[in-house]
Amino acid sequence: MSDRVHLIYNPERECMSRDELHAWQSARLRETVRREYDNVPMYRARMDEKGVKPEDIRSVDDLRYLPFMEKTDLRDYYPFDLLASPQSEIVRIQGSSGTTGKPIVAGYTRNDIDVWSEMMARTLTAAGCTRDDKVQVAYGLGLFTGGFGAYQGADRIGAMVVPMSSGNTQRQIMMMKDLGVTMLCCTPSYATYLGETIREMGLVPGRDLKLKAGCFGAEPWTEAMRQHLEELLGIDACDIYGLTEIAGPGVAFDCLEKHGMHINEDHVIAEIINPATGEPLPYGEKGELVFTTITKTGMPMLRYRTHDICSLTDKPCECGRTFARMSRITGRTDDMLIIRGVNVFPSQIESVLIKTQGVAPHYMLVVDRVNNSDTLEVQVELTEEMFSDTVGHIENVRRYISEQIKSVVGISAKVTLNAPKSMPRSEGKAKRVIDNRKI
Ligand code: AMP
Ligand code: ZN
Repeated sequence: MSDRVHLIYNPERECMSRDELHAWQSARLRETVRREYDNVPMYRARMDEKGVKPEDIRSVDDLRYLPFMEKTDLRDYYPFDLLASPQSEIVRIQGSSGTTGKPIVAGYTRNDIDVWSEMMARTLTAAGCTRDDKVQVAYGLGLFTGGFGAYQGADRIGAMVVPMSSGNTQRQIMMMKDLGVTMLCCTPSYATYLGETIREMGLVPGRDLKLKAGCFGAEPWTEAMRQHLEELLGIDACDIYGLTEIAGPGVAFDCLEKHGMHINEDHVIAEIINPATGEPLPYGEKGELVFTTITKTGMPMLRYRTHDICSLTDKPCECGRTFARMSRITGRTDDMLIIRGVNVFPSQIESVLIKTQGVAPHYMLVVDRVNNSDTLEVQVELTEEMFSDTVGHIENVRRYISEQIKSVVGISAKVTLNAPKSMPRSEGKAKRVIDNRKI
């Protein structure tokens, strides 16, 4: 038994029985399928092609008969052709933070903003937030959903919001200190940078700051990175997951047990499928996460393939919530690197680096092809202490990292150790891979 105090924003929903939830989801799924069929010609055509009528979908158990949706659909039907409500009912547009090509955009009705705010209020509450808290939003505020999502959730709770957006690191820290900020929302990579800068400014989190928890997400990170951040900032570091297409952050969130993120299942239905065949997989098995929204009206998504890889469990949680939990995202079907025939996820390398003494958690993977053979270079930064240490120790670090990568990932990599502070810092989603093979 853990001795944690678990705050729950909406116990009636978050703790409903699995049977009640099944009935709740089924009723809303039927409504959503009908809305989509009647209003989105692309999806109606796709259902017709499969020979599925809205009335065939009677409960969650029939979900598997519905066609999938994909990110390419958002590009092909950009910007408004997936809307299931008239444009006059859309009160907000948010977009993906993707850096290549056109952004993908999602339209939200007033109802959708409400649903999303509720999901984020639950997320922050699960990390310990109440109206007495001061929440610094250091996710970007703009088309990217991170900033607005955190703002709306904290506002719904009635906490004091400090909407800094990302960047301006020294000023962020000044505000954090002067206002007595208790909760931080940003990407884990930016939290690392903030933590480092706090130390550099001579501040000690437990002494000079009042931070108690952080809600970190929008990019993959590891359990090792969680421990690092908890120590660096003296806080509970909670994982939060979401994506623009489904709502934004808050689709799933850690409770303070921190062993899997509760999915807001009264608003979305989660499935895991085999990415190669599209077949649904049982709880416990790892595969591609697929979401169906059941309360959104602006741009509902049916069986949306996220390409994120994880597993689900509906085992009871110590916190009292009945919502199923998703494991950490261990990679994406599309960010998996295949190097000399071996599947490599950046997260595997991150976990090695964070456990290595003498290096800072800033890294870049550079993949190339030399003489028809793939090469992997892992660039990582030394800490100040290690940098000023004897050459012999630095060589040990390099050898240790190579051996660990070989044993965890199964391939050999060239390890390049860079001087402290020489690698780029991220204020939003970190870019961790340069794959020169594609060019
Ligand atoms: P965007 O819609 O641009 O914010 O991107 C959503 C994507 O960010 C998701 O599909 C995931 O790949 C990634 N993401 C968001 N939150 C997390 C998280 N907590 N852990 C790992 N990846 C995440
Ligand atoms: Zn829990």
